[in-house]
Amino acid sequence: MDFDAIVVGSGITGGWAAKELTEAGLKVLMIERGREVRHQQDYSTEMKMPWDMPFRGAGDSDLYDREYAVQRLNRHFTEFTQPNFVNDAQNPYQTGEDTRFTWFRSYQLGGRSLTWGRQAYRWSDYDFGANARDGHGTDWPIRYADIAPWYDKVESFIGVSGAKEGLKQLPDGQFQPPMALNAVETHVRAQIAKRWPERCLTIGRTANMTEGKPEEGRAPCQYRSLCARGCSYGAYFSTQSSTLPAAMKTGNLTVITDAVVEALDYDPATRRVTGVRYIDTKTGTRKTARARIVFLNAGAFNSVHILLNSAPGGLANSSGVLGTHIMDHANTLSAAALMPGFETHTSFGNRPTGIVIPRYRNMDQMDGIGHTRGFSFQGGALQSTWTQGNRMAGIGAEYKEKLRHPGPWRMVLVGFADCVPRATNRLTLDPAKTDANGLPQLRIDFAFGKEEHAALAQAKAEAAEMLTAAGGKVLMGFDQPGPGGTAIHEMGGARMGHDPKTSVLNKWSQSHDIANLFVTDGAQMSSTACQNPSLTYMALTARAAHAAVGMLREGRI
Ligand SMILES: Cc1cc2nc3c(=O)[nH]c(=O)nc-3n(C[C@H](O)[C@H](O)[C@H](O)COP(=O)(O)OP(=O)(O)OC[C@H]3O[C@@H](n4cnc5c(N)ncnc54)[C@H](O)[C@@H]3O)c2cc1C
Ligand code: SF4
Repeated sequence: MDFDAIVVGSGITGGWAAKELTEAGLKVLMIERGREVRHQQDYSTEMKMPWDMPFRGAGDSDLYDREYAVQRLNRHFTEFTQPNFVNDAQNPYQTGEDTRFTWFRSYQLGGRSLTWGRQAYRWSDYDFGANARDGHGTDWPIRYADIAPWYDKVESFIGVSGAKEGLKQLPDGQFQPPMALNAVETHVRAQIAKRWPERCLTIGRTANMTEGKPEEGRAPCQYRSLCARGCSYGAYFSTQSSTLPAAMKTGNLTVITDAVVEALDYDPATRRVTGVRYIDTKTGTRKTARARIVFLNAGAFNSVHILLNSAPGGLANSSGVLGTHIMDHANTLSAAALMPGFETHTSFGNRPTGIVIPRYRNMDQMDGIGHTRGFSFQGGALQSTWTQGNRMAGIGAEYKEKLRHPGPWRMVLVGFADCVPRATNRLTLDPAKTDANGLPQLRIDFAFGKEEHAALAQAKAEAAEMLTAAGGKVLMGFDQPGPGGTAIHEMGGARMGHDPKTSVLNKWSQSHDIANLFVTDGAQMSSTACQNPSLTYMALTARAAHAAVGMLREGRI
């Protein structure tokens, strides 16, 4: 099989690579390890209610203990969404002795584009300049101006709703009209602004559309907040709703599912990759596909796995940093508070986004306590609905009557702190343990350090302070991060940098060593910022695809 380009993985970034490369006229093969999931036809639990499910939505806890021990720790994992999460027993990984790392994965066509939380934020020059400023990690070879037009392109295409706030640390984008703050959030926003004008509570910028795109078969959001089951309205961005149809429309895309890429083929004479080796997981047959360029989009850790498994010591690793400097946001519930005084207010529908308070520390001056970077908050105010009955003891008329009344308002602020890149946080191949395909298991060594702990301690104190100032009664709050992976923003391992001696990729997400190899998922990230990263992965993917096509046309690769 010969193609112009191979894209490994069909998730958030693989879909973008396929779209951009096929629209530029390249014949593209997309290889996906998981099963096929067809838009609209295969969202099997999408319209189901708890009483339609064998375990009333709670799921089979014995099965989950045995086979989904990690995934079940994710709050989005339910009986409804379980088909969209990986089976841990069949896809094991190892962790270092002192490492706690929950690796949340979705192995199917569309990857985690089906399950993601859709929060879509631009990074700013505070983020791209962070490593240069405080000396952690290596300097990004790009700045905001390099990526801004690609953010425009991606936001316009995927559909992001949000409010423009004119913040330097969270640049505005091409937004559809924002979803509304509820009464409590509106009040808290005003109280915070009054006391701390530099802190802005705004509606979460989300890849859920408030305006449809009928020409693409996509409808506006119905406010169901059941997105991780798949959405036949196409109202949130997923590979299936958005990039895959665009790529298919070109007639240039071939998709293979149930095919796990084990390694890249490399020709030392030309210093080029010639294609990929993959295993048909239905038959166990090993196959090869060839192409002029390869895009790795298997998700940060799996792309690194493929590179590590492609040559002794790893392919594209003359720097020796392949697998190192992996990161994830340090993340915890900073504060939860009761918000009295809003009993006469309620909200309608289930808004599929929360609020965000973007970073306000360590911007133009260093004012963080014990850390040099930022933290932000996500969360929102919620009133319990009839589902409070899931946890409420009772029976009979009195119990039913209780369920008719929404419960009190609560507000939560969840802290996301920037994670400093460290060489000791790294991925390697386990020397002994293999998976069901006979491939070496990935081993993760990871720990947060004093910077992340200091940031979350400050986040806890300030979250409580803000909710209290807004009249809330704080019930709880934490300052210790969950295990690595909790934020589901794992990044790094093939970082971008100026210098081939200290980084794997150049500013085009292109291997310094191998000119026709591009890694455009989270592996390329050199720092984490403190906002969700996937919009940035998409923009970098589109940018890299454009660059790769140019280089191909000019005969440079
Ligand atoms: C519950 C949840 C909530 C999240 N919320 C947000 C959010 O609000 N905002 C945000 O920015 N991010 C969020 N994320 C993270 C986001 O989903 C990821 O950053 C994003 O999906 C990464 O895109 P990707 O293309 O690199 O990887 P993925 O989307 O994971 O896709 C990788 C694909 O590659 C396939 N694959 C892997 N290995 C191989 C191989 N060897 N051969 C062939 N195929 C392979 C996988 O099966 C998968 O389909 C969330 C994730 C989850 C699970
Ligand atoms: S909330 Fe909106 S995007 Fe999510 S499943 Fe419902 S209609 Fe689709």
